[in-house]
Amino acid sequence: MSQTIVALATPTGRSGIGVVRLSGEGSVAIAKVLTAREEFSPRHSHLVSLSDPGTNEVIDEAIVTYFQAPHSFTGEDVIEISCHGSPVLLRQVIDICLAQGARMAEPGEFSLRALANGRMNLAEAEAIRDLIDSQTVASARQAVRQMRGEFSHQLQPIKDELLDVIVVLESALEFVEDDLPETQSESIRSKLGEIATQVDRIAATFKAGKLIRDGLRVALVGRPNVGKSSLFNALLGSDRAIVTDIAGTTRDQIHERFTIGDIPISLIDTAGLRDTTDTVEIIGVERSRRTMADADVVLVLLDASEELSDEDQKIIDSVRDVPHLIVLNKSDKPDAISVAELTSTFARRASNLWETHTARIIATSAKTGSGLDQLQQAIVEPFTPQDSSSNGFLVTDARHHDLLIRSADEVRHSIELLEQHHSEEIVLIGLHNALRYLGQITGETTTEDMLTRIFSTFCIGK
Ligand code: GDP
Repeated sequence: MSQTIVALATPTGRSGIGVVRLSGEGSVAIAKVLTAREEFSPRHSHLVSLSDPGTNEVIDEAIVTYFQAPHSFTGEDVIEISCHGSPVLLRQVIDICLAQGARMAEPGEFSLRALANGRMNLAEAEAIRDLIDSQTVASARQAVRQMRGEFSHQLQPIKDELLDVIVVLESALEFVEDDLPETQSESIRSKLGEIATQVDRIAATFKAGKLIRDGLRVALVGRPNVGKSSLFNALLGSDRAIVTDIAGTTRDQIHERFTIGDIPISLIDTAGLRDTTDTVEIIGVERSRRTMADADVVLVLLDASEELSDEDQKIIDSVRDVPHLIVLNKSDKPDAISVAELTSTFARRASNLWETHTARIIATSAKTGSGLDQLQQAIVEPFTPQDSSSNGFLVTDARHHDLLIRSADEVRHSIELLEQHHSEEIVLIGLHNALRYLGQITGETTTEDMLTRIFSTFCIGK
């Protein structure tokens, strides 16, 4: 029997209401102590006074909702106490629950219990985490689809087909003395081929899924006064993303988020570069190099109204090996450098990320806003899968993608072994592995260790 757990289900800090959640056999007993109420009807909300059993003092008026096992999120008795959102009060309520025998929930422990009690599968639990963490409407939408079982439904027929093949081979192992008849072997190979193709097709959606979930890191570099901070602000504009507290933000690197279409963009202004006259020296420092190396795209800003300087030239040289776009800012002013001129100068340089896509040199004006749309399109274009239908379900989790790839590889390897007339026993090893990998996505074949690792990425109270 698992111990009763308690956690704050809403964010810490002042708010209209704050919800304390309990799960486990002791939940109702603890709620009774807190409220001096004799009974709670399942699936009903009760307006109650919360009291401190130590002092009998009323500490709040609250709504208590009872979800009776097994019809609850976790499958256990769950009590949700909606208090007024005072951090002091919420701490007090949690302390009383702890004193009554509950313990603090680990990150994701409510979801883990839901999984253990068969209330949802692993992919669905992960989708709840992703929904909470999502930064764009598009990634939230994908998470909801996964939460509602769409991924599991796509995988189930594939697992069934794989199992059918396994059963045929297992029985051949028992009953057929010689090799499988060629017609049967042929039909098995073709079935396995289809299975591998279907798994590949799902795995291929990860490119688009990763993009809408993780987005792109874009770094801005350029010598002082070319308009980096102006462009930074112009790009953020009204599309600034909600999340701004980004871990790893350093004092000399401004870091903000916005979106281009469905894609979250992390924009890093290497602002430290502004504070020195020797940009090139600074650009050489480790941090800036790392920022540029970590970026999916580096935007090199030039001032279109001034001749290309040695400093510009050196900055352009320094990004030679990283995917970059050259941005000719201040294009509203009479130009000293033109796109055409630059194109011929730099035509053969740098990464070929954009070669089959948009032009790599874009004229903008942070002042008038011209060219910003083209710049935004140019940033995302090479990363946007050409064949993705935005209506489709997308794999967004690297863990799932990895398991799909491994599974398809195992199936393909088994096909090769069949073609080489290896024994069913040998062929079956890969097929069992493939099935196990698919099962790890939804959690049927996931080890305890893996579950602990996965659920540690959840927030407390979920
Ligand atoms: P940074 O040092 O690279 O961050 O450059 P700032 O953004 O501080 O801009 C330097 C100067 O250029 C400021 O006076 C801006 O108003 C001006 N500026 C920036 N972008 C443009 C632009 O597109 N057109 C014009 N005309 N001026 C700009």
